[in-house]
Amino acid sequence: MNKFLRIAERRKGEVVQLDERVRSALVESLFGSPSTLIIGAVCGMLTGIYLAWASGNATVAKAAAVLSLVAIIRIWTTCVFARQIRRGRGHQHIYWERLYEIGAWSYSFTLGVLCGATVLHSHDAMLHTLAVANAVGYAGGISSRNAGRPIIAIGQFLLVTVPVTVALLMVASITYLILAATIMMFIGAMIGITQKTYEVVRRSFSMAQEKSDLADRMEILALTDDLTGFINRYGLNVHVENIFANRGDQPVALLWLDIDRFKEVNDSLGHPIGDQLLIRVADKIRAVLGDAGAAARFGGDEFIIICPDMSIAEAEDMAQRLLEVVRMPTRIDGHIINVSGSIGVAVAPFHGTEPDIIMRNADIALYGSKAAGRDRSSLFDFSM
Ligand code: GH3
Ligand code: MG
Repeated sequence: MNKFLRIAERRKGEVVQLDERVRSALVESLFGSPSTLIIGAVCGMLTGIYLAWASGNATVAKAAAVLSLVAIIRIWTTCVFARQIRRGRGHQHIYWERLYEIGAWSYSFTLGVLCGATVLHSHDAMLHTLAVANAVGYAGGISSRNAGRPIIAIGQFLLVTVPVTVALLMVASITYLILAATIMMFIGAMIGITQKTYEVVRRSFSMAQEKSDLADRMEILALTDDLTGFINRYGLNVHVENIFANRGDQPVALLWLDIDRFKEVNDSLGHPIGDQLLIRVADKIRAVLGDAGAAARFGGDEFIIICPDMSIAEAEDMAQRLLEVVRMPTRIDGHIINVSGSIGVAVAPFHGTEPDIIMRNADIALYGSKAAGRDRSSLFDFSM
């Protein structure tokens, strides 16, 4: 599909709202650096195994086993998502976001329980230091890593720090109470920082998206004829080049239609009525053409219709159907306007294989129709 049609398709579906696209980008950012997630998961696993071994406590050992299982599943889902994105299949963002959320929260809570259980069930202050440092360090890292989805980051943050804080409060020595109070203040500060970081990240994603949308809109304007909504001369060149580049062995028909004595409509009824007539002729062309091809307003009262995979017989039939609809009276502002059209037809590869040759030959055929008395279609012939 060429760039113009791709952009037009996106415009058709301003379907995907800006916020939705930004959200998708933010979800991708969660999985964006799998290495940091893998490092975190492996560190948590190794620390958990060491704490279980050094403390010799069954609760710590169970928490370490669950933590290792969750870590392995998270590493696996991250790799699968990265592969889906590479294959362009990562569009089910809500699904992936939920999966990430469940994994992140399970991992955080298990780590929190593991570290809290170490504080409660071990008497070794060094193990306590290792456990608390792990939980708090993980919480600090996560609040910036996952700031793209603050609900996930704050959830993880609370799930890992609250069990440790509760354990410190339960031990209730002065040092541990001070440590618990410090962690509580740290929680408040980090939630604020996560939300601020999220705002900055979201705003920069939105701005980048808006800029790219604006560029697309400008490109559409540059390629479109305002009056009829058809592609304009520049858009046609892009489209024709693309169709010919992908033609293969298929024929491509080009029909050049010019309204007969259109100047008289302008002169007798005024330019605005002339404009209305151009719009109505464009609507008639659109109705006849359907999905068979694309139409362009080449300028003035000239329209070019290009149909891939269309034989000479089909092109001539299409020309007759176009002439019939153009010939039908058109009512505009109480005036009944009767016009006709003339058409020149050229079909690649029979009348040329290059886009500019086919255009030139269709134009020559159109001149033949005009010279023969108008309101007719002529197929290009080399004798012309
Ligand atoms: P012919 O049968 O030979 O085609 O005669 P014609 O009167 O249609 O002549 P021609 O196609 O050469 O002229 C097209 C006219 O279309 C010339 C110009 O005044 C008018 N025109 C060009 N652009 C516009 C436009 O945007 N709106 C209106 N209303 N008229 C336009
Ligand atoms: Mg004309």
